[in-house]
Amino acid sequence: MAESMHCYRHPKRETRVSCATCGRPICTECMVATDVGIKCPEDARLPRGARAGVMKTDQVLRSILVGVGVALAGIPIAYVLFLLPFTWLISAAAGYGAGVLINRAGGRNGGPLAIVIAVLATAVPFLVLLAPDLLAGSLDPRPLIAMVFAVIAAGVANRQV
Ligand SMILES: [Zn+2]
Ligand SMILES: [Zn+2]
Repeated sequence: MAESMHCYRHPKRETRVSCATCGRPICTECMVATDVGIKCPEDARLPRGARAGVMKTDQVLRSILVGVGVALAGIPIAYVLFLLPFTWLISAAAGYGAGVLINRAGGRNGGPLAIVIAVLATAVPFLVLLAPDLLAGSLDPRPLIAMVFAVIAAGVANRQV
């Protein structure tokens, strides 16, 4: 006969489920279904790698919202950046900051989708400002290099850890 187990968080509740990581018994209310089995709330939260890149719908929406905000706010910021020395360096820092904002909005999951949102949000202000030069075919390579730095930094901020 199976020994009856009791939820480690609710000692009075009997359960047949135990955490896939630590083996502690958990009741159906406490258990968290993950990709790698049922876990206790602590272990379901712990391994970042196991859940990284899996943004929930509301986190995706928030990331996109912040991304649009970054893209709009970035236009005047990029305009000022072009007037400053070390544009590429400041652009990289600004891009990283933008990436972190988007990462936080997405519940710090990071991952491919977060990177795409961050890269687009960071590239848009540069492209808006550079478009006239691009169309005229008289583009200075320096702002382009600054854009590349900003975009890479934004992507790096959203890599999975
Ligand atoms: Zn556990
Ligand atoms: Zn419980």
